[in-house]
Formats: sequence, C-alpha cells, structure tokens
Amino acid sequence: MPDYLFPPSPVTGLPIKGQASLFPVRRVYCIGRNYAAHAVEMGHDPTREHPFFFQKNPDNLNASGVFPYPPQSSNVHHEIELAVALHSGGRDIAVDNALQHVFGYAVSLDMTRRDLQAIAKKAGRPWEIGKASENSAPIGPLVAAANIGHLSQGKVELLVNGTVRQTGDLNQMIWKVPEIISFLSMYFELAAGDVILSGTPAGVGPVVRGDRLEASIEGLGLLLVQVS
Ligand code: MN
Repeated sequence: MPDYLFPPSPVTGLPIKGQASLFPVRRVYCIGRNYAAHAVEMGHDPTREHPFFFQKNPDNLNASGVFPYPPQSSNVHHEIELAVALHSGGRDIAVDNALQHVFGYAVSLDMTRRDLQAIAKKAGRPWEIGKASENSAPIGPLVAAANIGHLSQGKVELLVNGTVRQTGDLNQMIWKVPEIISFLSMYFELAAGDVILSGTPAGVGPVVRGDRLEASIEGLGLLLVQVS
C-alpha cells in the first residue's frame, strides 16, 4: 500500500444477487439515443448513425434505493436503462466475442438534469453537468449472466407513483449490447469493473421530491427508488 497523502476514496461496490461479493466499479459509460422512439421525443432523427457516449462517475452509481433531488435544477428526468457490467475487457472487441466480457445485468436509472443538459447541448458543451451529478445512477442488484443468460429482449417499464411513464422492449435498441461493447472498445480500453448504461426507451419526464419510482426489466425484477 503506497503512502497516500490522505485516504483514497473507497471503490464503489455494487450488490450481486445471490452473492456476498460486491462488484467493484471502474468506469461508467452511457450511450445516448439508443431507442428510436426516445430519439424522436428528444427531437432527433432515429437513424442508425454512429452511437455516441458520455460518462458518469463510478461513485454516481447508487444502490441505496433513495435518489436525493440534485441541486441547481428544476427539471430532473428519469431514464430507465439496462446496465451491463463487464468482468473483463480489452481493445477492438469483435461483436461476436463481446458477450463473453459481460458479467451480468441490472436495472438502472440515468437521472438527468434536463434543463442543464439542454443549455449544454445548445452551447455545444459537454453533458456532464446534466448527467453526472451525485447519486445520478440509481441501480438495482446485478444479476449474473451465468444464472439468467444474456438479455436481448424483454419488457422495460418505469412507473412513477403507480402510473406508467416509460415502456419499451430491450429488442428496440438501435445498437445492441454486443455492438455497444465492440464500438466502445474501438475508442477506449474496456476492463473488468466497467458498467455500461445502454439507453432509454420513450417516455422520459420529470420527477419531484416524494415520487416513488418502480423500474423493471423482464428477467431482472424491480428497482424501487424514492426521490427525496
Ligand atoms: Mn440515458
């Protein structure tokens, strides 16, 4: 152990269903506009243009079940997403080999300060101020692919206070999970501990303090999040 000036920040560890070990997080990548209907609702053409990515910070992942409403925004949106957790990685991974790097999956939320993101978009600035706030990625327990297989279809649904807000199916992704991994690995060296948020279906909208979010993906179960 090196002699650090002060104690290093702890590694973010995600719970794994049925295992005592935590999944240690390295990086968090997020893909934008990966469901056609969501691209349209945000005012974009849903053609299969090259995917684009932004990042959140590892410690933005939040398995507490509570989402503290972030500061400096009055328009914070929910985006339900399939999270993909890698147990290995590399560069220039072929689509056909990509799934071997996937440890498992979880239900997650890409909580977005939409007002700040809109200002950034308009000014041609990076998105982190809208996307990478504290606790901005609520996530449920990881479920190992070894137990449930790989997910390429299944219902995706988000309810707010019992009302359905977002609905879709994993099979509506423009870029499929193996393609996302392959594409990312052309630009970044992927590694064990990386988590990829794979985009959101249509129906994004604002939350307020006191809201109760019920996020579910077929095969993974339910993630309950209270906005506080
Ligand atoms: Mn998103």
